Amino acid sequence: MIELHDVSVRYPGANTDALSIKSLSFKQGDFICVLGKSGAGKSTFIRCLNGLQRPSSGEIYLADNQITAISTGELRKARREMGMIFQHFNLIPRLTVMQNVLTGTFGYRSSFKNLIGWFSRDEIEQAKQIISDVGLSEMANRKVENLSGGQKQRVGIARAMLQQPKVMLGDEPVSSLDPGTSSHIFKLLKELHLRLGLLTVINVHDVELARRFATRIIALKDGKVIFDSIPEHFSTEA
Ligand code: ADP
Ligand code: ADP
Repeated sequence: MIELHDVSVRYPGANTDALSIKSLSFKQGDFICVLGKSGAGKSTFIRCLNGLQRPSSGEIYLADNQITAISTGELRKARREMGMIFQHFNLIPRLTVMQNVLTGTFGYRSSFKNLIGWFSRDEIEQAKQIISDVGLSEMANRKVENLSGGQKQRVGIARAMLQQPKVMLGDEPVSSLDPGTSSHIFKLLKELHLRLGLLTVINVHDVELARRFATRIIALKDGKVIFDSIPEHFSTEA
């Protein structure tokens, strides 16, 4: 589903590569946690996968698309196959849960007045279902700014899911949440992964979460893969 070949990223002015990957391939059944200390390249890696960062060299394939060699317009289309969740949620605080979820697929609208009016009944029904799937039915019309961190990330997940993605990417999606909440969010992601066969790739710095939920752990150090195997083989020494 995703393949990387000789991918490197070097930021302007740096004299080493922030990321340097020989070869990796991910399949649909993978629930991957990417581990590594701060600065290891985790975020750069995830950003390459969804095309937010163009590698300095190398090739990345998403299904049959070489996302490293397509135009910005095509990339935007390819990106719809990927849901993305973030550490700071990237929601619009003054809009409701429903409005935030709907903006996912259809993009940022120039005016948020009567935003709901811009969507078809079908779109709204679909959003309702997804909001219910993430356990937020009661909150659909609440403003996001009034929700807890865990609830905000559920909104983030619902927004990503509305696109019916084939891949779910997460850049430290639980790093600003307490351990109990983090584990609930991972349970939800795992459930979606299993139910929909969603290839999932998530950065975490909590080794225990990775051990509990991942089918495969990838550890990065100085931009390189230093471990890639099942959680049972992972030791914290790396
Ligand atoms: P992680 O997510 O594991 O903390 P990052 O991918 O953010 O790691 O960073 C990897 C390396 O690239 C670090 O040395 C970091 O300082 C550097 N880096 C990240 N983003 C940029 C940027 N936009 N410009 C220059 N250097 C960057
Ligand atoms: P969670 O509540 O899911 O554990 P956090 O750890 O981020 O998420 O939140 C800690 C507490 O702070 C929560 O109990 C929540 O009630 C409160 N809180 C978080 N964000 C807000 C907010 N924007 N407005 C009011 N209360 C908040």
